[in-house]
Amino acid sequence: MDTVQLLAFDRAHLWHPYASTINPPPVNPVASARGTRITLADGTELIDALSSWWCMCHGHNHPRIVEAINAQLEKFAQVMFAGFTHEPAVRLARLLLESTPAGMEQVFFADSGSVAVECAAKMAIQYQLAAGRSTRQVLASVRGGYHGDTAGAMALSDPDGMHQMFRGILARHHFAPQPVTPFGGNWDPGDFQPMEELLDRHGNEIAAVILEPVFQGANAMRFYHPQYLRELRRACDERGILLIFDEVATGFGRLGKFFAAEFAGVSPDIMCVGKGLTGGAITLAAVAATGKVAETISSGSPGKFMHGPTFMANPLACAAGCASLELFREYNWQGRVRAIESQLKRELAGLRNLPNVRDTRVLGAVGVVELARTPEPEAVQRVVKETGVWLRPFGPWLYTMPPFITEPDEITRIVQAMAKAAALRS
Ligand code: PLP
Repeated sequence: MDTVQLLAFDRAHLWHPYASTINPPPVNPVASARGTRITLADGTELIDALSSWWCMCHGHNHPRIVEAINAQLEKFAQVMFAGFTHEPAVRLARLLLESTPAGMEQVFFADSGSVAVECAAKMAIQYQLAAGRSTRQVLASVRGGYHGDTAGAMALSDPDGMHQMFRGILARHHFAPQPVTPFGGNWDPGDFQPMEELLDRHGNEIAAVILEPVFQGANAMRFYHPQYLRELRRACDERGILLIFDEVATGFGRLGKFFAAEFAGVSPDIMCVGKGLTGGAITLAAVAATGKVAETISSGSPGKFMHGPTFMANPLACAAGCASLELFREYNWQGRVRAIESQLKRELAGLRNLPNVRDTRVLGAVGVVELARTPEPEAVQRVVKETGVWLRPFGPWLYTMPPFITEPDEITRIVQAMAKAAALRS
């Protein structure tokens, strides 16, 4: 099939993320991807400033990850995880537990970030049932959150966000206002008050609080003060409520710490990871839980955790995950992220004088430009592509989450592309 035929079939028959089929947005045919670059069928090379939706931390097609997948493929590609186990799953669980916050003891593998969130919520409900607190059937969260696109995950995301139209099938959870004090700002104790009051009012209904630690991604693109998480840990403990950290976006070094929980120095009871777990190579997610959560669930009725995806702990994905976690131990990723952070801070500050720019903010390898007028995504993609960069705006935010191996001249090009996009008339 040549490129023209491929694009025609795609346009006629393929549904892309958040896209229309009547008037589909343009798509770029990819020929290959390596390191920071995606090469299109016509030879155009783009710097992947989004790490392909935030997961390609070591860059595309890292030879070590490719080798690990190929080696596993020679042995077996898939086997059901009920009644079987295998080395890639065991090694990955061990590597993961060696890097998660203190107290995590059990790993449950899932297919994607959204499914990990579903599993975490089910664990919390089963935990409370097993602990004899059967009134605790819902969760609490904060506004401005994003936890995925499946029904359970949508119900936990910002209730005023993009999933409103599905209200009819979504569970009703409790939401406190967004944390206000920014990361690096002076902590305002009043910031936690609304959550404390919500937990006081509804504590008997709430099995767990779930939130994205420090960085609210897809629905807010903002960084908040880690003290909020310390207060939340205390407030949950006082009421027998579990605390779930959704580290799907923040995990694996994205903010400069391996997990965002480290900024607060607190451990959750349950945590979700995904995206960067395989270095971005194949879909895989995991839920880690404390021994107490696992033991309580296992000693209640029906004595087991009620979830079991077909492709649970897929050996190819686990092999990729092992290679990725080993890579983290072998190069100075912290130094790379620190360098990206200081360059983004320096260069994005220059965009603040542009008339359409409201704010710029950076933490770790995340750089956000908040615009006054929401740009038209296709127009942004056109201008950034001219600069040799791949970016996709989200609402009023232009943002970059580049692979950690991105070189300084590439970061400069990303910032130049963002400046061009910010200057667009909407
Ligand atoms: N949780 C968070 C914090 C996310 O950012 C995302 C995806 O962006 C998800 C969950 C859902 O992950 P997935 O798209 O793999 O289902």
